[in-house]
Amino acid sequence: MGFSVCLDKDACNGCEDCLEACTTGVFEMRNGKSSPVNADECTGCQSCVEICEQNAITVAETGIEMSDTFKALLRDIL
Ligand code: SF4
Ligand code: SF4
Repeated sequence: MGFSVCLDKDACNGCEDCLEACTTGVFEMRNGKSSPVNADECTGCQSCVEICEQNAITVAETGIEMSDTFKALLRDIL
């Protein structure tokens, strides 16, 4: 199952708690704000959602795990 990681940059205060909470290294700091640069690594554990006092992070199941072939096809179509 895949997961999408959304981050509200306006709400983020740059505390870096989510970087420490995420064991798969999804987040990196960019210009003083957290950014889910490695969202493909998300396991959906929700640790970052729970630790963020700003409620800046949303993690949701995408419902489908797209294969590399399907992603390539989508890129061709779009
Ligand atoms: S825990 Fe929340 S407020 Fe802190 S850096 Fe992460 S997203 Fe920003
Ligand atoms: S849900 Fe878990 S694995 Fe996914 S970004 Fe948050 S802490 Fe990392």
